[in-house]
Amino acid sequence: MTNGSIPLSVLVAWLGAFRVAVTEQRAYLTELDSAIGDADHGANMARGMAAVWDKLEAGTPPTADELFKSVGMTLVTSVGGASGPLYGTFFLRMGMTAGAVAEFDGAALAAALRAGLDGIVARGKAEAGDKTMFDALAPALDALDAALAVGTAVPAAVAMAADAAEAGRDATEPLVARKGRASYLGERSAGHLDPGSASSALLMRTLADTLVSS
Ligand code: ADP
Ligand code: MG
Repeated sequence: MTNGSIPLSVLVAWLGAFRVAVTEQRAYLTELDSAIGDADHGANMARGMAAVWDKLEAGTPPTADELFKSVGMTLVTSVGGASGPLYGTFFLRMGMTAGAVAEFDGAALAAALRAGLDGIVARGKAEAGDKTMFDALAPALDALDAALAVGTAVPAAVAMAADAAEAGRDATEPLVARKGRASYLGERSAGHLDPGSASSALLMRTLADTLVSS
């Protein structure tokens, strides 16, 4: 990647890499969800991203707003459970913020991701420490903003965001869930990683890896 610009093709490559990651990690995500949920998170994410990919293969929208709105709509309509509407809203809000552009710079990427997280919060009301995908995404986007603010190159800044997402994922283990299905378990939800935080860490890691290799 040169001069900080992220063309649409790289954003599409990210979505493809996320699809591969949730497909490869499907059993792991399901195992996490079997401990504190209903054992469908791997299937939900793999099915949703397969539908996203099928649609992109039929034709890639020309601009970032249309790309992410399409991804969001596909996830909302193809995935049941909490994660479909939540990831769907994330991408829909990314699309609403992106504008009709054919490339992002670091600031535009960070703004779109932030809008996506705000959408997750608007929809699911998660707060820090509730043991949800928020606990991976929020520290990731804070790390991204901080790294960009001091002039870190975009791929390195996103790699720091992915590190923060993974730390956030790991920090969900001792937490008692206060949102979603896992909250029905009360204290028994402690001692397990949150599945949605694990898929969100994959979302950030695949973005970092895609930017570094493009
Ligand atoms: P379901 O819980 O309906 O079976 P999934 O298993 O696909 O859906 O997704 C579960 C994940 O969704 C959880 O691990 C958590 O990270 C996330 N989640 C659930 N409720 C919320 C919420 N209100 N806000 C943010 N994330 C949530
Ligand atoms: Mg589930």
